[in-house]
Amino acid sequence: MSVTGDNYLKILDNVHRLCRESGRDESECTLVAVSKTKPVDLIMDAYDAGCRDFGENYVQELVDKIPQLPDDIRWHMIGHLQTNKVKYIVGKTYLIHGVDSVKLAREIGKQSLKNGIVSDILLEVNIGNEESKFGFKPDELLQTVPEIAQIEGIRIKGLMTSAPICEDPEENRVFFRNMKQLSIDIKKQKTDNVYMDFLSMGMSGDYESAVGEGASFVRVGTAIFGERDYSLR
Ligand SMILES: *Cc1c(COP(=O)(O)O)cnc(C)c1O
Repeated sequence: MSVTGDNYLKILDNVHRLCRESGRDESECTLVAVSKTKPVDLIMDAYDAGCRDFGENYVQELVDKIPQLPDDIRWHMIGHLQTNKVKYIVGKTYLIHGVDSVKLAREIGKQSLKNGIVSDILLEVNIGNEESKFGFKPDELLQTVPEIAQIEGIRIKGLMTSAPICEDPEENRVFFRNMKQLSIDIKKQKTDNVYMDFLSMGMSGDYESAVGEGASFVRVGTAIFGERDYSLR
């Protein structure tokens, strides 16, 4: 087994154990291997260990990698997506995680209709109310969701967040709990076309508390593939 494959299986094992410990079924949380900046051969190492869910941040990199890799991979677009690049990825992803504006949602809807499909999206929440972060503020989302839900060509499948960077991953537990509560509050609005099936939260440093608080996707890069070298992009 490769180092990458080994790392993947160890983290998967952890995710499954944390699911059981919090009274959830193992199938309720998917480990997404975040492969941005990483070469195709390392992705294949994780694939050979059984991974089928991969996350990428950059449109060009994603578009380059897709034809080089097996068809049964589910590609997750997890990065900040610019409106003018939506047309390159619509129809190629399983899920678009970081939808952070009404304008972006409209463009995804428009391009999806053009392609005769409906795209599944997650709305990004700036759960720590950080200046530097993309995403809707938690308190504005309850009003905005019904507006986004009217857009044709998309389905709102849930919420996504990147919690603040912290020393002690336990510190983020409260943010993950707030995400779960927010998804419950949105679900209670019973808006058509809004599902709230998925919560995408938790990365290498804090995925354990995220699983415990109800994550349906954890997005883990460094702990599987090692540190990233952005100069290679
Ligand atoms: C890069 C990235 C990750 C993975 O981060 P690691 O700390 O390497 O696990 C997860 N989510 C998003 C949105 C990212 O950009």
